This record gives sequence, structure tokens and C-alpha cells, in this order.
Amino acid sequence: MLNRLRSLPIAVLILALLVAPARADRPMTLVVDATDIERRLVHSEMRIPASPGEMDLYFVEWTPGNHNPSGPIQNVVNFRIEDSAGKALHWRRDPTHVTRFTVDVPERSPHITVSLSYICNQPGVNSRSTDTYGLPGYGGLNWNTVLVYPGEADKGEFMVEATLRLPRDWRAATSLPRHDGADKAGAEVRATEHRYKPATLARLIDSPVIFGRHLNSQRIPIDHDAPHYVHSVARSPELCELPEARLEKFAEMVRQSEKIFGDFPFSQYHILVILSDAITGFGIEQSESTFIGMGERSFVNAETPRGGPMAVVPHEYIHCWNAKLMAPEGMFHENFHTPALTQLMWVYEGLTSYYTDIVAVRCGLLTEDEFVHRLANRINTYELQAGRQWRSVEDTAAGLRHLRARSASWEDLRRRQDYYAEGALFWMEVDAIIRVGTAGQRSLDDFCRVFFEVGPVPIGEPATYTRDTVIDTLNRVYSDHDWDALVRTRLERPVEDLTIDLPALLGYTLERVNEPIGEHSSSDGDEHASLRNSIGLNANREGEITSMVAGSAADRARLGYGMRIVAVNGKSYSGDALREAVRQSPDTGRIELLVNIDGETLETFTLRYNGGMRYPVLVRDESAPDLLSAIASPR
Ligand SMILES: [Zn+2]
Repeated sequence: MLNRLRSLPIAVLILALLVAPARADRPMTLVVDATDIERRLVHSEMRIPASPGEMDLYFVEWTPGNHNPSGPIQNVVNFRIEDSAGKALHWRRDPTHVTRFTVDVPERSPHITVSLSYICNQPGVNSRSTDTYGLPGYGGLNWNTVLVYPGEADKGEFMVEATLRLPRDWRAATSLPRHDGADKAGAEVRATEHRYKPATLARLIDSPVIFGRHLNSQRIPIDHDAPHYVHSVARSPELCELPEARLEKFAEMVRQSEKIFGDFPFSQYHILVILSDAITGFGIEQSESTFIGMGERSFVNAETPRGGPMAVVPHEYIHCWNAKLMAPEGMFHENFHTPALTQLMWVYEGLTSYYTDIVAVRCGLLTEDEFVHRLANRINTYELQAGRQWRSVEDTAAGLRHLRARSASWEDLRRRQDYYAEGALFWMEVDAIIRVGTAGQRSLDDFCRVFFEVGPVPIGEPATYTRDTVIDTLNRVYSDHDWDALVRTRLERPVEDLTIDLPALLGYTLERVNEPIGEHSSSDGDEHASLRNSIGLNANREGEITSMVAGSAADRARLGYGMRIVAVNGKSYSGDALREAVRQSPDTGRIELLVNIDGETLETFTLRYNGGMRYPVLVRDESAPDLLSAIASPR
């Protein structure tokens, strides 16, 4: 390009410079008015540099971290465009690409003004973690919900200067640097108007904000160049007080993570938590923050089994490396409307899920017993999941947009986003193979150290890897194994046999015992009946069948979803009655169920079953080294 320009006459060059749009040089300004957010409305106004002619504008469709076209465009209202003189411009929506709007920019309009309102608190299944939320006295904002960007914009170059207006006396926290220079303090200052420094579109989208009347900012007690914080908002200040002991565990989380993955790759980290029972249960990764919604008493409740809701934090933290520093090729593009290639999610989420539990146990968020118990349950889950025989793990990644929500019926056959948990089992097998093959000298930690050894990357623009990069790096760490074949058989093909051999490799056997022990909680007194491990069904308190295991005694008896169990062995149905019948089954060899099959017809079903109650447990095999203990040990 430069060479060709050099041969042009100077006059042509000057003319070209005069008419060339200087759009990239002028930042778009974005003013978000969240003073109405308690009423679940946010208003925004953008001033976007423009040139005469047809112009495309996009609402963020492929939100980072969601990996599917779930940008909640359905909640955008009051969408209006004006030229620089304030004259309304007609816009058109692309019916084949509903997040794309086209407008004709008139002559002598160096910018356009776009305004919209966003209806909060009603995300789609796939956009819960990238939505905007308003609650009485607090909330959280994802910038992707309140802006459009020019179709030609490169997210790594296109600059946006954002301002956020909040109700009086609210404070805000975000990783986005503020105009007054409080870059590393999480912008936790009381103000009505928060002005942020111009940032690339990529960085803005990667920097959500939480805010409220009661915002608590606690520094994680670790001596680190990159300060780490926990910020939380809730309806009262007491709910936002994370005990010192848990902050210490987060400090250890940072230390243990860096021993595995290398130095923290960014310059600050903010754990942004919305504490609410109304919008709980999501977490999403950013480069310098994580945006989490958890139950309002999560900080103040005594620690609950299995690490409690805090276990989401190590997961999102690991994504700073495995997502934000390095991501699969084709997953992220220069904009947010080009479809992502998601088949390598078994690395992005599978490796992250494997290390979530490891970092959690190494930093004390999980006990070793909880760690082993979770693993036993995970293996047990997949040994029951018949869908593995038609659909590979990779296929759950390729089709992930349809697999976030539960399948009300036959979920085992449809599968869910199993590249997370079954992906984690794959990585545990890899870890075990390396440890056994090198007599404990090397492990998957060494793979991570090499794999994530890349220079700094801009925020929101990770370096990339391919399937080959993964195989090559595994070979660099341990070459005496056919990694390509392992990836193919475990991840890229359906399995023939549902059995998972991993426990033997770890020095354990997976057994099903008749009595709950250790981490198993007894289900006695539970109104529901959770009996997937034994007769192969779950039923709710009314006796309605809510889950079936393909190939189980319940399946063979041809019970089905929606049928309602009325009586068990001649007694009225209850969770306890069904459990008792299962407990007696080694003596009886059968269970007789009276079932209402269609609302009015009663039919008797006989289950041939004699296995009693079954609880999965990993039992130590003393003839082999205990790899689980080695894996769980802090470094
Ligand atoms: Zn994740």
C-alpha cells in the first residue's frame, strides 16, 4: 500500500488525505444514564464519527465469554439516530442479521447521534452474565447492552470515551481507568458522573461496572505489582463484608495460580460481585475483572460444603490466562459480529474447569475430601450419560449455543455443555499420564507453564492457539504418548463404552456403596427422590418423574417423563417410601410402582432391580501411587 502511494502524484495524495475519513482518530463518546436503573431502565447516547453514505451499526452480538450470538438485542428500545444537525435519520434492520442497522449519513454530518434505552434484568438463557441489572439501591452494567459500533470498526483500535451517570451517593467499581487517574483503585469514588479514559472498544466491552449505595472494596492481602480487589454491592453494608479468612484464601489462590500458569498477565484484578437472591448464579471472565452474581448471604454465611458459591472465583481467575491471554484461533475477531469457532472449548473451558478444583483445593477453598468427592460424582455422572455414545465432547462445543439450558426431558441423550466437566476429566487423564510417565517429575502444571508463556497482550485481544499447538506443547512436556490419538478418542469421537478408566490411573477405584459416607449427604427426609444411581430416575415431591437414565431399571420398565408415581409397593408415594423400597431391593429383587400415566389412567410398573441405594465413592487402591493426593497438594 505504501509503495503504491509513493508513485502517485503529490496532488492526488493530498486530495486523498483530505477526503479520507479520519474516523479512527476521533473517539466515539458514550454517555450512559443509569439513574433510572432501579426501575430497570438504562438510557444511552452515542456520538459516532461518520462519513456521508451508507453506514452499518452493530449491537454487540458475540459477547466475549458467552461464545454464541446471544447479545440481548431484544431488550433494546427507543433506538433513534440523528445527524449532526439533530435531524432524525431513518434506519433499517437487516432481517438476516438482526443486530445490524443501516443508516444513510447525509453530507456535512461529521458525526451521528444514536440513542437507545435498555430494559434490564431480562437476559436470554445465554446472556445472563453479560446483561445489565438494576436492583433497589444497586446494580451492574455490561457496556455491550448500551452501545452500537460502526461495522468497519476494529475493536482493538476503535476508541470509546465513556461516561456513566449514577444515582446520587452511589459508588462504582470497574477495571476501566477513570479520567481522574484512579486507575488502580477500582474507581471506587462517590460521584454522580463517572468519566472514563478513552479505551478501545475491546477493552470497554471487557470492563463491566458494579455500583450501589453500599459498595464495599476489599483489597486481597497479597504483595503484588498488580493489586487484586474484591468489590461487592448488596442491599445492606453488612452483606458486603467478606471475612478476612476468605480474603486470605484468595491471596493463596493468586499465589497457587501463578505457580501453575506463570505471572499474572495484566496490571490489576477486580472481583466484582452483585449479592442478590433475585439475579444469582452467574460468573464471567474479563482480563482485569470478573462479573459475578451470587446469593445475597454468600459473603456472610459460614463456609458451606464444596467451597460454596466462592468456587466460581478461581474458575474466572484462571481465565485470565486460559481465555484472556490465550484463546483458540477463530474464537475472537476484530469485531463482535463475526461468528466464533468454538470447537476448542474443551481447552478454553475444560482445562479451566480441571484447574478450578485444583486451585480451589490448593488454596483451601475446597477440602481434599470435597475435591475427591466432586471427582467421584463427575465420573459417575458421565458413566450414566448415554448421549456420550452418539455425540462427542467436541460436538457439545460446536453446538454449545443450544446446550446452556437444561433439557427438560432426556438430558442424558441431548447432553449439555459437557466440554466443561468431561473436558476436565480429559485433562485429569493427561495430567495422570504425564505424572506416571515421568515418575512424578512432571505434570500438567508444566504444560501450562509452557503453553501460557506468551508476551503481554492488549486487553480483550488474546493471543491464539490451535489444536496443533496443544498437541505440540504436550509433546514438549512428555513425548512418550500418542496425544493426537487421545484427543481424538476422548474428545472428538463418541465413546462406545460409558466406563471411564481414569480412577485406576489415579490409584483409585470407583465403587458404589449402599450407605452415604463422608461428603455424601443423606437424602433421608428429602421430599424429592434422587435415585438416578440406583433405579435410574428422579421424582419430585408429587411423584412426577423429572429425570431418567437411559438403560436403567426405570427405563427398561418403560417409565417416562411426566408420569406420576402414586404408590410404591402398595404404599402411598413419598421420597422416603421410594428410597425405602430401593433399600429393600437386594431382598425383594423388584419394586412395584402404581403410576398415573396421563392424568387419569393408573398403571402398574414393575422394576427389576436388586442393587439397593448406590453412592459413588473413590476408594484408594494401595497397589498404585496416590496421584489425587499429589494433584491436590499446594505447591
Ligand atoms: Zn469458564
